[in-house]
Amino acid sequence: MILKVARLGHPVIRTPAHPVDPAQISTPQFQRLLDDLVETMREYEGVGLAAPQVHLSIQVAVLEVERPANYPDAPSVPLTFLINPEVTITEHATLDGWEGCLSIPEMRGVAPRYRELRVKALGRSGEPFDFVARDFHARVIQHETDHLRGEVYLDRMRDLRTLSHLAEWRRFALKPAT
Ligand SMILES: [Zn+2]
Repeated sequence: MILKVARLGHPVIRTPAHPVDPAQISTPQFQRLLDDLVETMREYEGVGLAAPQVHLSIQVAVLEVERPANYPDAPSVPLTFLINPEVTITEHATLDGWEGCLSIPEMRGVAPRYRELRVKALGRSGEPFDFVARDFHARVIQHETDHLRGEVYLDRMRDLRTLSHLAEWRRFALKPAT
């Protein structure tokens, strides 16, 4: 089922999300929610979606980059479920890059993100896992885990003058700023 996406201004976008009780993960309702998050992310061509963006204040996010039409320089990222993720930054150097957000429709802006991080989380079967992500992959994870703390990429931008309407961005700004 495609879920309704909350936009900036809805209080849920600014509310820190609660951890998921691991005992809930295997329930049919929770598994259906995970499927709905994936379906909603794909429908709107996002590269990630966090539960607060569908009005649920819980620490769940999904990521997948396989059709990076809106992010032409992006590598692909396999479908990943992050439940109760904990992020540790492993490289504090930052990289500027363009971001958009389904909760801030039709906009793009340049935000700095740490280049490398380690994520520990539970997967869709409740299994603990961890991995290291770099560059665009690390950017998507920082964007989605920010949502779980009630933050959005606008909060990370150093210069709001890069903020662009998507249609104008496609004409003028396809090359990421560096
Ligand atoms: Zn977002």
